[in-house]
Amino acid sequence: MPPVFNEKCTACFKCVEICPGDVLREGDGKPKVAYPDECWHCGACMMDCPADAVRLDLPLWMRPVTKRVK
Ligand code: SF4
Ligand code: SF4
Repeated sequence: MPPVFNEKCTACFKCVEICPGDVLREGDGKPKVAYPDECWHCGACMMDCPADAVRLDLPLWMRPVTKRVK
């Protein structure tokens, strides 16, 4: 899933600036995901957001395995 921005967003647009995939654009009061299929879940937008306003749900295949079947 591409990132989702919550109400804590201050519209600084740092995430738009740093996204290496050029996925994000400046929207009306918060960023918008312009090219969702281009997001490869690198996490840069979430890690660099100064307001903790980015939620990034990783696809299932990218999540760490927490339970193993013997
Ligand atoms: S970096 Fe964070 S606070 Fe700034 S525009 Fe992006 S989501 Fe909003
Ligand atoms: S996870 Fe990476 S590629 Fe996807 S929108 Fe954020 S910075 Fe861009």
